[in-house]
Amino acid sequence: MADDPLQTPLQFLTGVGPRKAADLEKAGLRTVEDLLVRFPRRFEDRSRFQPIASLRAGGTAAILGEILSCGVAPTRRQGFSLFTALVQDESGQVKAVWPNQKFLKDVLKPKMKVVLFGRTEYWGSRGLQLTAPEFEVLQDDGESEPLHTGRIVPIYERTGSVTPNMHRTLVHRALETLTAPLPDIVPAAMAARHGWPDRRTAFRQAHFPDPGTAVEALNVCATPAQRRIIFEDFFVYQTGLALRRRQNAAVQKPHVIAIDDALRDRVRQVLPFRLTAGQREAVREIVTDMQRRWPMQRLLQGDVGSGKTVVAFLAAMVAMENGYQVAVMAPTELLAEQHLRTFQRWLFGTRFRVELLVGRKGDAARRRLCESIAAGEVSLVVGTHALVQDAVTFRALALAIVDEQHRFGVVQRGLLADKGLHPDVLLMTATPIPRTLALTACGDMDVSVMRDRPPGRQPVRTIVRPETRRDEVYGLMRAAVAAGRQVYVVYPLIEESEKSDLKAATTMAAHLADTVFPDLRVELLHGRLKGDEKDAVMRRFVAGEVQVLVSTTVIEVGVDVPNATVMVVEHAERFGLAQLHQLRGRIGRGSEASTCVLLYAAPWSEESRARLTALADSEDGFALAETDLQIRGPGDVFGTRQSGLPWLRAGDMVRDADLLALAHDEARALVDGDAVPPALAAHVGRVWQQQFGLVTVG
Ligand code: ADP
Ligand code: MG
Repeated sequence: MADDPLQTPLQFLTGVGPRKAADLEKAGLRTVEDLLVRFPRRFEDRSRFQPIASLRAGGTAAILGEILSCGVAPTRRQGFSLFTALVQDESGQVKAVWPNQKFLKDVLKPKMKVVLFGRTEYWGSRGLQLTAPEFEVLQDDGESEPLHTGRIVPIYERTGSVTPNMHRTLVHRALETLTAPLPDIVPAAMAARHGWPDRRTAFRQAHFPDPGTAVEALNVCATPAQRRIIFEDFFVYQTGLALRRRQNAAVQKPHVIAIDDALRDRVRQVLPFRLTAGQREAVREIVTDMQRRWPMQRLLQGDVGSGKTVVAFLAAMVAMENGYQVAVMAPTELLAEQHLRTFQRWLFGTRFRVELLVGRKGDAARRRLCESIAAGEVSLVVGTHALVQDAVTFRALALAIVDEQHRFGVVQRGLLADKGLHPDVLLMTATPIPRTLALTACGDMDVSVMRDRPPGRQPVRTIVRPETRRDEVYGLMRAAVAAGRQVYVVYPLIEESEKSDLKAATTMAAHLADTVFPDLRVELLHGRLKGDEKDAVMRRFVAGEVQVLVSTTVIEVGVDVPNATVMVVEHAERFGLAQLHQLRGRIGRGSEASTCVLLYAAPWSEESRARLTALADSEDGFALAETDLQIRGPGDVFGTRQSGLPWLRAGDMVRDADLLALAHDEARALVDGDAVPPALAAHVGRVWQQQFGLVTVG
């Protein structure tokens, strides 16, 4: 690919010296391609400037004129300055005013030709003015003018010493280096089908649009040229995922799963309840995958309380009935223990042995257990995620179930395969992932979604209150307890300040126990408690001996106590939307009405307000996930780059969700049809190498 003109380093462009090259590189712009996929911040129609004489107050205007005079004007207010320029075109004159930008006296000079873009205001005795407009000085060299005016002009972000104006010139030069058609990474037929121009044309029009292109469309990246480039951004990554998926399908798994009526009967006998339609469909999809000759890679999405455990259990039954072993991994020991109890209950009276694998490596009991697992005496092993990392050997592992794992990115998933294991993999997440994120982080997987819930659930009422109305909340807690119900009080535990937060939770538990509810049993649960202490506290809560459980977020996943009907979340403003939704899923599990109180410490940010309000308004985890994505953006929702999210250059997962979905479908069709063009394959290889280092594709 050495002769790919898009890979030309920017320093080879005229006008880019070492200093500029360094500034550009710092902003992530190293090659011609980098420069061309970085869209302008917005476009401005400079094909028609407004005549100054026609300006009216209360709008935005773009004018082109010459500076007659300018300078810092004195003001009466201390520490406040105004830089003023009087600008003239053929029709008239207008004043432009910049508050507190004294440095402009070194930038703007009389006789300069400038483009101003900004708000027009009527300002008392000063008359009509442009207030703090964006400006651009036009060089009077004849060459630059057609680039910077008289057309729809791209306005770029300033990067270090590279001004928006220089940036524009650079992009123009970069485009001029593209003398021949570019190798197609989107097959021409596909581009034609969607009405997109060829690649070189797309780059040109995405920066220097043809006359008459709608500026409104340009500013929301909706023109065919822009959409093609955005699509490419997603498409390259999705092709990589599709290739990985095919690679996986080429693996012959060592085990064979077969199903007959006798097996179906035996499974039906242990079935604890009638499945919902969503559960039935998910089981069907999973079991179909399990019978294929290549390993399953499936993500099961279902809101909190949608009943994923039983689905996992049925898949496990199928594997065990076929004579194989199953590993179930949970994020916390608490949850692993709960799964153990659940599976033990459901498997009672069958020949299958379930064991919990936790604890330190060296210890004797654990060593013995590992021996039984290696000998195949244990059918189902429950543990934390460390199970994958540790050198636990199975005699015949056919199914790995990973619970509550929404941060299990593309890269980490390779782990099992890297160990030479090819079990069927079922990932389960109760944090509904917006579709776009699911397609991105898990685009090489198949996804089952359960949207319904087991019958008999009561909706949870959610209220948002400032801390100052704590007494009202205590009243609510007391009323619930008087009616025989139980209450959670949840404290955030943020890593950096873990100690002080733990102290806050401890202090609160003591305060509630001694002062507010001296007649009730209040206990504290947190992650620092030893396993058996935690277990003891939970057991007392499950048994109803404890009425108020003060807890850190260890109860976020897991815990199933239908009698608990009130949850009070302290410092709710510190939690993410998904996490709050998860927490709230702990109540509303029985037949009684439940209430979730979100307490916040004032002042709260606009974002916190949006988050807590969204939560009070909706109980639909999928809808909330979309809201979360819009409030916070994909990076924050999904964690960092390690989560397996690609860097996007032109694309935006929220704005361009439709293109992402399209890229997913097109990439799969292309890969499955064995029609990946060589230029695309090479490009995908290079991008994956850059983004994920060691990961190999195709
Ligand atoms: P999650 O999807 O959050 O892991 P669980 O699997 O813990 O949900 O299920 C939540 C609760 O609903 C459990 O108490 C479970 O026993 C119960 N449950 C699940 N499926 C059904 C069903 N089909 N009918 C009745 N109760 C169910
Ligand atoms: Mg669960």
